[in-house]
Amino acid sequence: MSKRDYYDILGVDKGASKDEIKKAYRKLARKYHPDVSEEENASDKFKEAKEAYEVLSDDQKRAQYDQFGHDGPQSQFGGGGFGGQDFGGFGDIFDMFFGGGGRRDPNAPRQGNDLQYTMVLEFEEAIFGKETDIHIPREETCETCSGSGAKPGTQPETCQHCQGSGQLNVEQNTPFGRVVNKRVCHHCNGTGKDIKDKCTTCQGNGKVKKQKKIHISIPAGIDDGQQIRVAGQGEPGINGGPSGDLYVVVQVKQHEFYQRDGDHIFCEMPLTYTQAALGDEIEVPTVHGKVKLKIPAGTQTGKTFRLKSKGAPNVRGYGHGDQHVRMRVITPTNLSERQKELLREFNDLGGNEPLDEHEDSFFSRVKRAFKGE
Ligand SMILES: [Zn+2]
Ligand SMILES: [Zn+2]
Repeated sequence: MSKRDYYDILGVDKGASKDEIKKAYRKLARKYHPDVSEEENASDKFKEAKEAYEVLSDDQKRAQYDQFGHDGPQSQFGGGGFGGQDFGGFGDIFDMFFGGGGRRDPNAPRQGNDLQYTMVLEFEEAIFGKETDIHIPREETCETCSGSGAKPGTQPETCQHCQGSGQLNVEQNTPFGRVVNKRVCHHCNGTGKDIKDKCTTCQGNGKVKKQKKIHISIPAGIDDGQQIRVAGQGEPGINGGPSGDLYVVVQVKQHEFYQRDGDHIFCEMPLTYTQAALGDEIEVPTVHGKVKLKIPAGTQTGKTFRLKSKGAPNVRGYGHGDQHVRMRVITPTNLSERQKELLREFNDLGGNEPLDEHEDSFFSRVKRAFKGE
């Protein structure tokens, strides 16, 4: 799938000012924020807008994007994380709305990053649900230093270069006059802290990567592409902020016999020529076990029977879908001489004259097509 243009996502011109970009993003963020939006795919749209904003609001990233597009020399857009799928915490947006124009206090509590995990399920597992444990690599607060990053017994000090704000004013002389830009303080990487004696366990990060076991309940009836939100199981918050969330995205494997569409299951059953002509009672497999099905005499290929409530359970608990069984009449092959003889006799007795009303009109359509030559 090709990525959408960042300017298109935000709905701004290529020459849009920083202010216009920010306004456009705020509008989208309000509309699609997953905590408030009722829209379909709100979380995807929110992520998309957030990614576009992160690039276009940063002079350096924007210049690089303008020049190289999505395939920049470093594909640094979209964040790191395992599988390249983690995305920024939704908490940031609240800082932007209520924290005074996006200038962020590095010491303020912030929500940790959300994580995304893709889980592949067998067809039946999705139908019946599943209890399972997953192991995800996740950043955890370092136990040695309780997250401060400083060696036990010592304290992080305030960064002298930025006085703890995490930002530096960079003055530039331009043809339009002197411009003051705020840049992330490179002495403390924007943390506002100076750690003289780093904790040896986490090298001063305050966080360590750990495999974390998380129990997941997959609800019966979940479908391909749906996701489960596990609150508070994302990355830990910063400065005592809340943890992010974990999103488990479900991928359901195809089945060799069943196809699924929402809560309904579709399948095809073979019928012999004789069964189709004379009628029969056949057994049809369903995910809930075998079901007997009466086939009336004269059944054609394509005729579909409905087995009520033999489909997938509704994931929200609203009953079951149905199973739809389509008939396919199999033409006999490798006939013996005797069988051929009987079929010829059958034909001579008028056995191949269409009698069924539906079939009759089908034959008349063919006849009319010949006349039209
Ligand atoms: Zn530590
Ligand atoms: Zn600093």
